[in-house]
Amino acid sequence: MSDLMRPLSFGHLMTWALEEYARDGSIFGVKDNQFWRPAPGRLITDSFGDRLASPVGPAAGPQTQLANNILVAYLSGARFMELKTVQRIDGEELRNAVAKPCIQAEDEGYNCEWSTELTVSEGYDEYVKAYFAIAVLGKELGLGSVDEVAFNISVGYDLEGIKGDKVRPFIDAMVDASSTPIFRECQAWVEDHLMELSHFTREDLDNLSPQVSRSVTLSTMHGCPADEIERIAMHLLTEKHLHTFVKCNPTMLGYQFARDCLDRLGYDYLSFDDHHFTEDLQYADAVQMFGRLTAQARKRGLTFGIKLTNTFPVAVSRGELPAEEMYMSGRPLLPLSLSLALRLSREFDGSLPISFSGGVDAFNIKEILSTGIQPVTVATTILKPGGVTRFRQLSSLAAEIMADYQGIDVDRLAALVDEVLNDERYHKRYREKVQSRKTDSPLPLTDCYKAPCQDGGCPIHQRIPEYLRLSAAGELKEAFEAIAFDNTAPTILGVLCSEPCRDHCTRLDYDQSIDIRGVKLAAADGAQDAFVAAMRRPALLTDHKVGIIGAGPAGIAAAVFLRRNGMDVDVFEKLEGPYGIVKYIIPGFRITREQIERDYQLAVQLGVRFHFSCEPDYSVEQLKKTFGHVIIATGSWGKCPSPVQEGQDNILDAIEFLWQANNEGGARVGKRVAVIGAGDVAMDCVRTAARTEGVEEAVLLYRRTEPYMPATQHEVNLVRSEGLAMDELVAPISYDGTTLRCEEMRLSDEDADGRRAVIGRGTFVDLPFDTVIGATGATVGTGAYARNGLAQNSRGMAAVDASFQTSIQHVYVIGDGRLGPSSIVRAVADAKSAVRAILHNEHLSVDYDTRPQKIAREPLEVHGRRGLLIAEINGKAEGDRCLACDVICEICTEVCPNRANVAITVPGFADPRQIVHIDALCNECGNCGTFCPHAGLPYKDKITIFWTSEAFEDSTNVGFLPLTEGVYLTRLPDGSVREHRVDHEDLPDGMSQVLAAIEEDHSFLFAAPVGAQS
Ligand SMILES: Cc1cc2nc3c(=O)[nH]c(=O)nc-3n(C[C@H](O)[C@H](O)[C@H](O)COP(=O)(O)OP(=O)(O)OC[C@H]3O[C@@H](n4cnc5c(N)ncnc54)[C@H](O)[C@@H]3O)c2cc1C
Ligand code: SF4
Ligand code: SF4
Ligand code: SF4
Repeated sequence: MSDLMRPLSFGHLMTWALEEYARDGSIFGVKDNQFWRPAPGRLITDSFGDRLASPVGPAAGPQTQLANNILVAYLSGARFMELKTVQRIDGEELRNAVAKPCIQAEDEGYNCEWSTELTVSEGYDEYVKAYFAIAVLGKELGLGSVDEVAFNISVGYDLEGIKGDKVRPFIDAMVDASSTPIFRECQAWVEDHLMELSHFTREDLDNLSPQVSRSVTLSTMHGCPADEIERIAMHLLTEKHLHTFVKCNPTMLGYQFARDCLDRLGYDYLSFDDHHFTEDLQYADAVQMFGRLTAQARKRGLTFGIKLTNTFPVAVSRGELPAEEMYMSGRPLLPLSLSLALRLSREFDGSLPISFSGGVDAFNIKEILSTGIQPVTVATTILKPGGVTRFRQLSSLAAEIMADYQGIDVDRLAALVDEVLNDERYHKRYREKVQSRKTDSPLPLTDCYKAPCQDGGCPIHQRIPEYLRLSAAGELKEAFEAIAFDNTAPTILGVLCSEPCRDHCTRLDYDQSIDIRGVKLAAADGAQDAFVAAMRRPALLTDHKVGIIGAGPAGIAAAVFLRRNGMDVDVFEKLEGPYGIVKYIIPGFRITREQIERDYQLAVQLGVRFHFSCEPDYSVEQLKKTFGHVIIATGSWGKCPSPVQEGQDNILDAIEFLWQANNEGGARVGKRVAVIGAGDVAMDCVRTAARTEGVEEAVLLYRRTEPYMPATQHEVNLVRSEGLAMDELVAPISYDGTTLRCEEMRLSDEDADGRRAVIGRGTFVDLPFDTVIGATGATVGTGAYARNGLAQNSRGMAAVDASFQTSIQHVYVIGDGRLGPSSIVRAVADAKSAVRAILHNEHLSVDYDTRPQKIAREPLEVHGRRGLLIAEINGKAEGDRCLACDVICEICTEVCPNRANVAITVPGFADPRQIVHIDALCNECGNCGTFCPHAGLPYKDKITIFWTSEAFEDSTNVGFLPLTEGVYLTRLPDGSVREHRVDHEDLPDGMSQVLAAIEEDHSFLFAAPVGAQS
């Protein structure tokens, strides 16, 4: 593995494209049904004067470096190609300066790369190859003419370099490529293959213009002096006669504006000082300069405009990338870029053309284009799952609204800026509280597809994609059966689940995670009653019985799983009814008694025996006389640690308060109530307090800020939507029954882990409250564990093994009583583990461990959903937003800007296709590693095809280097290297099938690279 890319020759590129299309109906992984087919003749003239089928395309960046990248962008819908910047520093020198990985696009994007890593002349060849490939394949596939595509040159960063021996000939040859070797090579290849083409004719070839580009965008380095920028732009206009756009940095907005805007949108953790703001082009100078350049351009019948925006530099403060500074892109750039667009448009009365990038996606492209801004280019959105296929939607939306360039509508732009600054979608918190969607599993060499919602997200591994699909198809009975297999409280979890699955849902990287919980509740609403009515008591398969203490979610889950699998169960509960915290503590406005009863019936109908109002002083020794196994599931009801140093007795504990509210006809708490804490319990308390009779004001107090609140974003949003106050950065010190004294706090700078400590300011506020509720985390009452002789760990909790068996054989502790305050779904997960151990012990089978076959999905239909952003939660059809990740993942193929990961059909595996990594196309940008749902990194962990021995030697990847016909140098999973002959059966299982499939059907993956051809 090395970061050196070895581009495909034109012949290889075309062979690959045509053979793959003939065999798989795709080109470099983009499927035929993902191609964008514009309405014939629907063209617009952009501000550069290009006639385009769509004013949309990839920004100069990782996706416009290699010809195959540019080609796939075209196939998917891009028609304005801003080519990767060239400058005098190139090739090896540039590569040595770019630390890898160089891209991090988890949410907002970051990169630490800037111009092509190829040499300028290699870069040139890529652009001409892309031009030819688009000309031929566009015609062959009915996607349009290459004349409807713009190839916009991007150059940087100094005049001397631009006039020098590398960049000058590059620009000239982009304007007239006719005499260049690569143009002739492409021409010759097409000429030789005309017979194999169905629609591209000799006439098309003869008419192909050698003018690849008519326009240029000048990329400027941070700190580039104003007069240098002007000199370069003047040179491009007057000497090169190119329509010229100058990239502007958001630093023109001024430090304070940028800081305030980003803070307001929740990006307060972005770290930058004002040095770029003072060193970069200043706004006033820019306005003067743009006026002069516009006048010059007009004189020559050319366009001068600006590109908004270039990069926004921030410090690497949380180890995002191996650099000191990185460039931010994506969501937070949108408000900045639009704000600058507005300011300059006002200045020039809408007459200054703007080419736009920075946070454009399918949700805002129409609004942006409708202001007159065009073209628009994107980078971050196509680095995310779906990849370039997102162009299909972008160009379809653009086509609905696009028109010839006629200047900027300043009022419309002003309204858009206002909207964006107030739109929740651009707030950091919109992406819930998730950083990485990855899970803990190692990445397998083969058969790697997985639905991370189910495997890694959901603690009870519910068959999520299956029930989403069944629900969307209206098959609620079947959907409910799939849910009930793993879930003993479908309705309760349909209402209250803390939804760890959502943190891993691939949809999070598109728009919003699937509302998995909502679909579950809809299935339960539609089918649970009938399911319960049809239930039969399973036969008892052993004489041994199980006694369970506690009828909360954990105890009931264990009872259901055990009874279902043939064991007799008695549950002993000290309260009058079932479901513990859920029924007696969680506020009734969150879940109704009927909903709880519905789940309780699942246990009752199975034949679980419940004993309520039991004495709480259970004896394990006594129980063991009757029961072969005992499960203790008594929860976590102890008082929370006091949130104040003085006046602890004056604090009302959260559980006590909620108990009173739920069971004693309401709490008496006065008029002004403070809740201290920021977890889900605190959210329940403040919402309950606000509903309590007599309360005029209920406030939540937290020592940090909202992004650090442990509560789910959903719960925080509910508090906000109810208009309740959340006072941040206040740490309670004392409470005397009427006055709560708090210290004012501030956040420190981030530490290496990105955490910001809270530091006292030394200033204090006295706040009058009638009641202060402490909601800083309940504790487990461990006295009963000690009394019954269970070994305890240093925190007093019961010491347990992996199946939660205690020091006493056949006695288990599960749920909050084992974990401390946790969640319902984790309580059910604990039950599954303990029950599995008991059933194994009894030599009984475990029904929830039998996993059904994955439901077959039509691959084209699954691929057809990829790349499409869908804003709204669609009610019953929500399951239709599911991307069926368990059946087809292939995210690494989509997000790789270089198409270096390839999915090929290999018979004999569970997954329909296997991932192969092409070393020569990879520059180790790291993007596939960010989005693969496993812990591993596809570019390091998948079977790799090498094209040169240097690359093989540089790498530790498992894979193949073709030596001669039928002979490969191979590196095996144990790291050993040996020669393999295809007629010898000496490869580990998996590798031999993959190699055979490549040899048989995908030999183009092995073709020799440029410069190594015979
Ligand atoms: C205010 C609040 C809001 C919450 N909101 C959510 C939420 O939205 N989503 C979510 O997933 N989780 C939520 N939780 C957490 C969730 O309720 C718990 O994680 C879950 O109930 C734990 O289940 P359990 O069976 O382990 O314990 P519990 O629900 O506490 O059940 C334990 C049972 O054992 C009984 N018991 C205790 N001692 C004895 C004894 N000696 N003898 C007999 N019986 C005994 C108790 O009476 C109780 O019925 C919330 C918790 C609180 C406090
Ligand atoms: S898109 Fe569907 S299968 Fe993929 S993670 Fe989300 S819910 Fe699961
Ligand atoms: S394979 Fe992965 S690391 Fe390599 S270029 Fe593609 S996305 Fe980047
Ligand atoms: S991203 Fe690629 S390597 Fe990772 S699971 Fe998906 S298909 Fe496999």
